[in-house]
Amino acid sequence: MDEQIIENLVAASRILANEGILDGLGHVSVRHRDNPQRYLMSRSLAPALVTASDIMEYDLDSNAVERQGRELFLERFIHGETYKARADVMAVIHSHSPTTIPFSISRTPLQPVFNGAAFLSPSVPVFDIRKVAGMTDLLIGNGELGKALSVTLGQGAVALLRGHGNVVVGETVQQAVYRAIQTELNARLQLQAAMLSGPLIYLTPEEAAKVSARSGPDATQVRRTWELWKRRVLAQL
Ligand SMILES: [Zn+2]
Repeated sequence: MDEQIIENLVAASRILANEGILDGLGHVSVRHRDNPQRYLMSRSLAPALVTASDIMEYDLDSNAVERQGRELFLERFIHGETYKARADVMAVIHSHSPTTIPFSISRTPLQPVFNGAAFLSPSVPVFDIRKVAGMTDLLIGNGELGKALSVTLGQGAVALLRGHGNVVVGETVQQAVYRAIQTELNARLQLQAAMLSGPLIYLTPEEAAKVSARSGPDATQVRRTWELWKRRVLAQL
């Protein structure tokens, strides 16, 4: 496995924990660079504790290639099924990012409040597991549920999971991390704005498209923030 990719995956896990996106739960993965039918993710472990030796390889049915008795994340199917559905996706994050959860249980859609979250335009879809599987423990614990979630995600960057959390994707792990952090921030800002007199003015799809045209995975804001976040967590290793 490529050392640089693993280093970035470990950094992503720790950054997301450090920035309050992941707590003891949640996970981040990257698609294998040489084999698009595989992805890399840690064994079942709190994201802040992940090291290079915890990274494992999975096929897209989310079987571990060499399990060696290690415990796996129950919700790993979110990753495998997203990679199956989206050839453009190179990194997936599943979090319980707290401020996004109210939007998953209410009629108020999560919408882009500021330019840094233009990728949320026009609004974020919500996956309600009850509609596809009835009464469950709300976890994406098999491939069928993962596939249904990937349908809700569609071609978007983010989908909310009702009463649970969200899934965020990117063309690089850096972009996915950037998006996950901006999504949480956007949710916080939208709740704050809701206390002020409205109607609120969100980014239009036209504005969002203009922002997105200059904020791909190599955009300055993604690279600059990644360097900062990565330096903060590597200092802890
Ligand atoms: Zn979860």
